[in-house]
Amino acid sequence: MNILISNDDGIYSYGLYELAKRAKEFGKIAVVAPDKEQSAIGHAITMHQPLRCGKIELRDLNIDAWWVNGTPADCVKLGVETLLPERPDLVISGINDGENLGTDIIYSGTVSAAIEGLLFSIPSIALSYAGKCSTDFSVAAEAAVQVIRQVLDNGKIDNMLLNVNIPEADRIELIKGIKITRLGVKRYRNSFEKRKDPRGNSYYWLAGELIQDEMGEETDIYAIRKGYVSLTPIHIDLTSYEAIKKISGWNLSLNNC
Ligand code: MN
Repeated sequence: MNILISNDDGIYSYGLYELAKRAKEFGKIAVVAPDKEQSAIGHAITMHQPLRCGKIELRDLNIDAWWVNGTPADCVKLGVETLLPERPDLVISGINDGENLGTDIIYSGTVSAAIEGLLFSIPSIALSYAGKCSTDFSVAAEAAVQVIRQVLDNGKIDNMLLNVNIPEADRIELIKGIKITRLGVKRYRNSFEKRKDPRGNSYYWLAGELIQDEMGEETDIYAIRKGYVSLTPIHIDLTSYEAIKKISGWNLSLNNC
């Protein structure tokens, strides 16, 4: 099995290294990842400047690895279309340093790399560690490979993106289990802090304070807060079928004169 690994924390991040090391048990790994951190870049792609890339040795891993001066979505595009000799059978993004839960995934570069995989119709998994900033991803990586192993054992994940979050834990035994969840909702307040620069001009710094998690027991947020791995299947059809039903009775026409 050919596996493409990307992320949004950058090619030198601890989470990507630990994932690539452990994922070798599943097949041939190739890494294509941003040359610097791209967290919260969402699904941006680079169209107005050239993309440059270079091959590097990822420490002791002995795998094909490229940095790209672009976004996570750029990396997966370039990897699948150009850099990799064969089309990957699986795209894995992560392990992100920080959770990607609920509505926050709209902004997530980690999830966007996996969405890009899905746009190629390649099964994709986004992995995020819901702990504090960490250099030790060994427990998260152990949980991640256990999840990936079971996902692969369970059969076809065609046309599927799994958003996986792993709770903070010092030991794998402290994680309570795995829950299949839906996305919750996160709401923020006072998102911009106004400050003055040394020349007296105002500037704004995004510093959202979380005011509410929508924490229904079936949500990803609830599962993580209770110490479970959360696994949410995501699709990218943003159509509101409910709204189509509601507005289909509207009287809409163009005034053709
Ligand atoms: Mn990140």
